Amino acid sequence: MIQENYRQIEARVAAACEKAGRAREEVTLVAVSKTKPEEQIRELMEIGVRDFGENKVQDLCKKMEDIPGENRWHFIGGLQRNKVKYLVGRPICLIHSVDSIKLAQEIQKEAEKKGVTVPVLLEINIGGEQSKGGVAPKEAEALLRQAAVFSRLRIQGLMTVAPPGKEEENRAYFREMRLLRDRLAALALPGVDLRELSMGMTDDFETAIAEGATIVRVGTAIFGSRSYGEPEWRP
Ligand SMILES: *Cc1c(COP(=O)(O)O)cnc(C)c1O
Repeated sequence: MIQENYRQIEARVAAACEKAGRAREEVTLVAVSKTKPEEQIRELMEIGVRDFGENKVQDLCKKMEDIPGENRWHFIGGLQRNKVKYLVGRPICLIHSVDSIKLAQEIQKEAEKKGVTVPVLLEINIGGEQSKGGVAPKEAEALLRQAAVFSRLRIQGLMTVAPPGKEEENRAYFREMRLLRDRLAALALPGVDLRELSMGMTDDFETAIAEGATIVRVGTAIFGSRSYGEPEWRP
């Protein structure tokens, strides 16, 4: 069931790439396994899936310990500074959600202590929603310039969570993200390579690919809806 769902999403990703004239390898499909049991992750691993996304530090750490192997784990949730020490030092593929200089500083400090470098994305609140993490687009350059000074952060691009359920409306946001990325990349800050654009989820990943996403994060369409004890409310 989950394997079949994944295959369907993979086919849609491939079709969206083709339609956009992009190579399939340009886009990473991250299976967002947050709240889902390890058994379901293993099912996907059987068919070769390696990129998984989690949004809680504790859940990610547990799953990483229980499921050894070659997986590329993505941390996609809001990150509190006091939790940074649990993430840094583990083989995490990418932290998608750096959205303040204090958080960047904490990652730097912890990474220095452990002698590692940490690949990160800067999170942008493209829709200006109160409830969302990320910095406003106009603050992105300042955050980038400050974070770029930290030698232990490898800044690889930008991430956003667009407003839910608005595929066509989000096209403009995705385009804005790409233009923002291009503008920031043109600053050519030393040690910064903004090749990644992490955007697009179950409701809008095809549009995101059309607008230049290099990472799409898909949960519901692969694993089914999440239950957090109560049915999840969706607008
Ligand atoms: C939950 C989540 C997703 C996946 O959302 P779906 O709509 O279930 O595909 C993607 N990105 C982030 C940051 C998330 O928290």
